[in-house]
Parts: sequence; C-alpha cells; structure tokens
Amino acid sequence: MRCPACHNIDTKVTDSRLVNEAVAVRRRRKCLKCGFRFSTYEEVEILNLTVVKRDGRREPYGREKLEAGLKKALEKRPITHEGFKRLVNVIERDIQLRGRNEITSQQIGEVVMKRLKRADPVAYIRFASVYRSFTDAESFWEELRSFPAKSGTSRQRGRRRSNTPRS
Ligand SMILES: [Zn+2]
Repeated sequence: MRCPACHNIDTKVTDSRLVNEAVAVRRRRKCLKCGFRFSTYEEVEILNLTVVKRDGRREPYGREKLEAGLKKALEKRPITHEGFKRLVNVIERDIQLRGRNEITSQQIGEVVMKRLKRADPVAYIRFASVYRSFTDAESFWEELRSFPAKSGTSRQRGRRRSNTPRS
C-alpha cells in the first residue's frame, strides 16, 4: 500500500482492529518516509458462490444486487453509511454460513429478512411484502435485479414494483 501523500511504498501498520462484527478489519498506517498517517479497510468478498434461482437457473453471487435491494428497502430510512455497510457485512456472513458453494435465492431472502427485521422494522416490512408476494414463477433474486439500480440502467421485469420516481 503506497503512501497517499508521497507514494512511498514502505508503510507501517500502527493499529489493527476488527470492525463490523469481525468481518472487516481497519488498519492504521504510517508512512515510514514522510510520516503521513492513514488507514485502510479490508473486508471479505464472497467469491465462487453460486445462487440457485427458483427456476433452477444459476448465477454467480454479486454484492451489488444485495446492496441494490437493501437500498430500495431502506429508502428514506435513517441509516448511516456505516450502518448500511455493517448490515451488508452481517448478511454476507450469514450467507457464507449457509452455503459454501451454492445457496438458493430463497435462503438469501430469509437471511436478509432476518437481519433487516432487527436493523429497521419499516424496511423489513417493505422487503417482506415484496418477498412474500412471489410465486415460484418469479424468484426473489430476480426481484432484486428489478429494483432500480443506482445507475438507473436496470430493467423492469414481470409485475409492478417500484412506483418511486427515479432521481
Ligand atoms: Zn509518505
């Protein structure tokens, strides 16, 4: 890790602590050349996990989709950036506990609901009402995809959802 101030490559870790229920680590560093202090944040990234959808199709797990769904559920709710990150981290930790190589979209939905219920009851109800409205024709995972993404490039699939105007 290069020093952001002088680009020197030699930096020293002065402190290291686990954050977000021990699924991430923050390290304080000091540049050995100019003395500049900064910190780095390291978190788990789920790799090689396949999501099995209700119709049997498979796709690689991607955090963006989870985040998009959560953002939608938490729209205008009082949650901090840190709080949101923590929520994503604990959900992913639960996901990893459930499936090493494969997980069903349904299992992911259950994990999300369990965590959201604790984090924000209103968001939980929003999420649960969408989740429970599924028939097996359309999976929860597909619904996450249909949530408007940040970029605004997502497409709508199947039934209604999203009566919120895009910004
Ligand atoms: Zn430096």
